[in-house]
Formats: sequence, C-alpha cells, structure tokens
Amino acid sequence: MAVSTDLKEYHNLVGGELRGATGGALTDSIDPSTGKVWARVPKSSKEDAVAAIEAAQHAFPAWKALSAGERAACLRDAAEVIASNGGELAALETQDNGWVIRETTYGLIPVLQQVWLDAAAKATEANRGQTVPMSPTTLGYTLREPYGVVVGITPWNAPLFTFAIKAAYALAAGNTVVIKPSEQAAVSSLHLGKLLKDVFPEGVLNVICGPGSQIGDTLVEHPAVSKVSLTGSGGTASSIAKATAGKPKPLILELGGKSANILFEDANIEKAVEAISTHSIFTGNSGQLCVGSSRLLVHRSIIDQVADGVKNYLANPDLKKFGPTMDPSTTTGPIANKSQFETIKSYIQLGLDEGAELVYGGRSGGAELISDRSDLADGYWIEPTLLKTESNELRVCQEEIFGPVAVMIPFDTEEEAIALANGTEFGLAAGVWTTDLSRAHRMISALDSGNVWVNTYARVGTDLPFGGVKSSGFGTDSIEDYSREKACVIEL
Ligand code: NAP
Repeated sequence: MAVSTDLKEYHNLVGGELRGATGGALTDSIDPSTGKVWARVPKSSKEDAVAAIEAAQHAFPAWKALSAGERAACLRDAAEVIASNGGELAALETQDNGWVIRETTYGLIPVLQQVWLDAAAKATEANRGQTVPMSPTTLGYTLREPYGVVVGITPWNAPLFTFAIKAAYALAAGNTVVIKPSEQAAVSSLHLGKLLKDVFPEGVLNVICGPGSQIGDTLVEHPAVSKVSLTGSGGTASSIAKATAGKPKPLILELGGKSANILFEDANIEKAVEAISTHSIFTGNSGQLCVGSSRLLVHRSIIDQVADGVKNYLANPDLKKFGPTMDPSTTTGPIANKSQFETIKSYIQLGLDEGAELVYGGRSGGAELISDRSDLADGYWIEPTLLKTESNELRVCQEEIFGPVAVMIPFDTEEEAIALANGTEFGLAAGVWTTDLSRAHRMISALDSGNVWVNTYARVGTDLPFGGVKSSGFGTDSIEDYSREKACVIEL
C-alpha cells in the first residue's frame, strides 16, 4: 500500500519515556472509514516487551509503598487529563477504529472519566482486610496486597475503555501496569500513554504496541508478571493459557459472546425495537460489541411486528445514517479493520447458504452504501443485517460474528426461550423484555449469563461487576480482582 510520508507517528511509553520500537519498526494504522493509512504505530519486539515489564517491576515497590490516598490523587489527575483532552482522544479513537464521533465524544469520554474517578474513590478500600478472632489468645486477620506487575491486553473494538478498566483498577490496588493495545487500533491508547506520562511516577504505567502473535507470549510468560488481564477472543485466551501453563498465574479473561435478547409477547415492543436498533447490536461501532445481542429470540406471535419495527428503524436515513465518522450526524460507523470486514461478509453469506432468510440488509462496501462520498468508497462498511431462522443450530447462531448481524429465532414457550438462550458455548449477556415481574425473576435465575438486563440492554456501570461465564471468560476488571488476600495469624 502506498504510504504518505507526513503521517503522524505514535510512541510506546516505557519507564516514563516515549520510545519507538527497537530498530524503529512501524505498523501502518488504517482509517476504516476510508481504508487509507492515517498514522503509524510502533511494531515492538520481544526486547521492547521485556523493557516495559522491567520498568514496571522496578517501579512496583515505591508505588506499592505509597498511601492509597497518594495513589488516588494520581488517578484523579488521570481523570482530569482525560477530561481536558477528551475531544482529541475521542477523535483519535474514531479515526482509528471507526466508532462514530457522536458516541466517542458523548458516550465514551464521560465513561472513561467515571472509571478513573471510581478507581480513585475505591483505592482506599482496595487493600482493606478483615479481622478474624480465632481464640482468646489468637488473632487472625487478612491483608489485601497488590499482585505486582499486571499486563493488560486490550482489543481493537474499545481500546480506551478496556485500557481504563484494566489500568485504573490495577493501579488503584497498588500494582504497576503494562498495557498492550491491539496493533489494529493502538493510536488512542498510545496517545493516552503520552498524556499520562507525567501523571504517574516513571514505570508505573507503560503502554507498548506490537503484534500479539509476536510479543504476546513474552508479555504473559515473563516471571515478573504476576497477573494478566485479556479482553479479546477465545483463541487468544487459549494461547495465553498455554503460554502460562508451565508456571500458572492468575488470569482475567473477558471474551466473546453470542448474547440473546429475548422478547416475550407482553413486552413493550416499541421500546425493545428501539434498543435493538440503537445500542444492542446495530450500534455506532457497527455491532463490534462483546455484549452485542446477536440472537433475537422473539415470541412467535410478535415476530413479524418486531421484524417490521427493526426494519423501519434501520431503513430510516434520519435514524441510521452512514457517512464520515467524524461527522456528528453519522450514526453508523464502518467495521474496524479489513480482516473483520471480510469475516462478517462471509458470515452473512454463510447464513444465507445455511438457509436463513434475509429480513434486512446484507449489502457491503462504501461504494454501494454511501454512493455520494467517493472518499469512503474503500472503507469497510457493512449494512446492518437481520436474518431469520427456525434453528439455533446454524453456525450464524452459534459462532460470534462480531458485527452488525442479528439472527431472529421464534419461540413458543418460556422453557423453549431459556433452552435457546442457553444453547451456545457462550454466557456473556442476555436481555429479557417482559412486563411480567415473576417471569423476569424466573428468567434472571434460569439464564447462564454473566449479565442479564430486563427491559433494557447493555447497561453497565462502575457499581456492578462485569464478566462472563462458560466460554465468555472469568474474572472481572474490578478493584477486587487486582489484589490478593494474605492470611495472617498472631499468637498473643
Ligand atoms: P483478539 O484477536 O483476541 O486480540 C485481543 C488482544 O490480544 C490484541 O491486543 C491482540 O494483539 C492480542 N493478542 C493476539 N494474540 C495474542 C497472543 N498470542 N498472546 C497475547 N496477546 C495476543 O481479539 P480482538 O479481535 O482484538 O477483539 C475482539 C474480541 O474481543 C471478540 O471476541 C470480542 O467479543 C472480545 N471482547 C470481549 C469483551 C468483554 O468484555 N467480554 C469486550 C470487548 C471485546 P494484536 O491485535 O496486536 O495482534
């Protein structure tokens, strides 16, 4: 690909210094709305990965020795830096992975601030233990201590959000951190590293960009790394589990899903249709959402009404608008990279080959979808796509597509809805739409899922844990998961 010479280059943050990769190796970063190279990021080597870990190792004792209040002050400063640079961070995230500017500006940036401030507020409780009277002459108690060096590996669909939930809580609990963003969309994370360079003592927070297949093993195996938190795919989770099997270490795995949004016949259909069409699967980053409701389980008596409602919403250019991702009126962005673009297209074709009915969408490519914008012709655009089938066994109902593709499946009874919802290897999230309170409680209890939302969808917040079950992972990026307990006994 022809590369212009005036592209902005971004750097790693290692030991308080902004550095390129050893030998100056670089990777092109592509703007997915245009398919054109727009920036360059370091292609770090194993040696660079070791340098980042050693910097974090070196910084750990002094960071751990600070009071929780002193660590909290740094975290509050980080929130302040993010707020005052919010416009720039939102724009970098948008250009790098295609998530539309209206959502990165008004949705993402306030959430980032909230996470860093929440971590600051919880810093004092992070290392609080319990006293356990064991006998009149024996005092037992627990201490909570940081692990040491934590490596946080983040995906391309939500780089700044996953950076926040890993780094902020790990730092609050007294760990030092190495963040490795996906090289597919690393610019916003590298820029945030630069902005936070002087907020934390050197080496406390490090950000390093390089291909996971080349530096991933080094980052997770290194003996100085005490905990690894991955947000990513099941395949990468398996690689990390294998790489650390010889000397096992605690992992947090936030993985994929095939989440069901279940609409009963007594649901508020209008509200459910709006949620499906805006923030459940047909989102501003085109369904590249781990909790995306890629299966819509709908009571047979209302399935046509729901299908028509979603179709009407998606076909309304005032509500669902493709266009330049930096234009605040654009509601629907492209797919974040070419490989994912090809994957989603092939899944749509597979669904049709498997016999699913195309209810809406299915088209792709900027030239087809945004014909009045030649600059977007080579972007990775996919039309929101709704399929319908009777069988939950199709591959499009079982495998994570990670894009704007939902499959509708009818059901007749509550028991059938539960069996369908639980009938995949995943267990990340589920939505239930009903006005029957007893049924809502029965469903919450019956669903094998880390998150269940009733009469709403994708509602996450700093006061609730977030994680999956089954193949969707284990552990949570919360302050409790970034410290370990020590049991202490004193004979008086
Ligand atoms: P991915 O391919 O697993 O990549 C995730 C991260 O792992 C990237 O930084 C990647 O680096 C790195 N990586 C790749 N191979 C590695 C290895 N052998 N060792 C260590 N690290 C390695 O996932 P993705 O395609 O970026 O993200 C999409 C997936 O993330 C979907 O499955 C989605 O559901 C999941 N996700 C889950 C949540 C959640 O909270 N549950 C949230 C968001 C996304 P490079 O890309 O640089 O190679």
